[in-house]
Amino acid sequence: MLFGNGALAMKICSAEGCHRRMAAKSFCRKHYQRWRVYGRTNRVLNYERHGYSEHPLAITRSNMLQRCKRNPLYVDRGIKVCREWYESTRSFVEWGVTNDWQEGLTIDRIDPFGDYEPSNCQFLTFSENSRRVIHQEYLYSAFNKTQSLTKWASDTGIPYATIWSRINNLSWPIARAVTQPVFQA
Ligand SMILES: [Zn+2]
Repeated sequence: MLFGNGALAMKICSAEGCHRRMAAKSFCRKHYQRWRVYGRTNRVLNYERHGYSEHPLAITRSNMLQRCKRNPLYVDRGIKVCREWYESTRSFVEWGVTNDWQEGLTIDRIDPFGDYEPSNCQFLTFSENSRRVIHQEYLYSAFNKTQSLTKWASDTGIPYATIWSRINNLSWPIARAVTQPVFQA
């Protein structure tokens, strides 16, 4: 259905009784996601019932906000989270689920100097994301040395993924990330 015309034309979700803006496959974000998961638009998803904060992407969002607040690699470059995602878990979750998010994927900024915002983000597997980071040659400084994470990992014996996660998910300072022994259960 199309309301208005010209520049003001807005496509509307085709689910019965819905008047939200069309996002994908003729549905709004909410109905698209129901359709994608269940093959129909009238079945309610878990996170709709229990709240968006229960969705795994809520954790992704919280890590992203922490990085931009505490991690010098982000703070010093002035990398920010866009207002929409900063203010709303729901907005971020809805964007994620309509943009190829799957459990286990990590969020990646396409332009490493750009912000966390819809036009600059995509979801990648952990190894694709790590490869991109290496390709961009991010260098990490601690103890008067500035070098790649690969080099830090081989120097310290701490696995690359552990150091990466400490810095990017836990927002540890580099010096701690490359020195604290790995906890052995
Ligand atoms: Zn809809």
